[in-house]
Amino acid sequence: MDKKLKKIFDYIEELFPNPETELHYSTPFQLVVAVMLSAQATDKQVNKVTEKLFQKVKTPDDVVSLWFEKFEKTISSVNYYKSKAKHIFETAELLGKRKIPDTLEALMQLPGIGIKTAKLIAHVLYNKPFIAVDTHIHRVANRLWLVTTTAPEKTSELLEKLIPDNAKDIAHHGLVLFGRYHCLARNPKCDICKLKKICNYYVTLNEVKSISK
Ligand code: SF4
Repeated sequence: MDKKLKKIFDYIEELFPNPETELHYSTPFQLVVAVMLSAQATDKQVNKVTEKLFQKVKTPDDVVSLWFEKFEKTISSVNYYKSKAKHIFETAELLGKRKIPDTLEALMQLPGIGIKTAKLIAHVLYNKPFIAVDTHIHRVANRLWLVTTTAPEKTSELLEKLIPDNAKDIAHHGLVLFGRYHCLARNPKCDICKLKKICNYYVTLNEVKSISK
């Protein structure tokens, strides 16, 4: 790993030792449901909903045996709950007693599962070397100049090439936590950040400030 990446990941590990997903789950299918619910919703909102839901839902069969309207109502506090409920039901029916697929291609055959969701599931359940880029990773990677991209899909592709497989776990979960709690979209904690010197965002911002003085 190059020096810059090492500095970034050492600092992230210092701030967030053993980073992992903040979604709550105890079975592989619950992780799939939680990830599907998390699109356009915060992990906090999803955990609130699944706290009750996962008392009854542990496997695909548990979903299929539920009354659809009741299921829909249980998840109605998350965005796009109607389409999410439909996709989760269809996914549960398709999966039946099958194991959750471990390839992106097979995961993306499931209703409502796109590339980002598939990468997250494959990474969390099977430790596959993918980086599912959300808004936090996309922002942080660009601020630190690991990439210069406008689309998260491109950021994902480039980070997967740039970051060695043995660092992808920290890269994925650590960068999410770093963006969520430290390098926030508004008011990033630059004052206390140890990455200031290698941060394009910080350096550029201060150059602009000194010019305009
Ligand atoms: S210096 Fe500021 S913008 Fe740069 S990584 Fe640190 S918190 Fe984020």
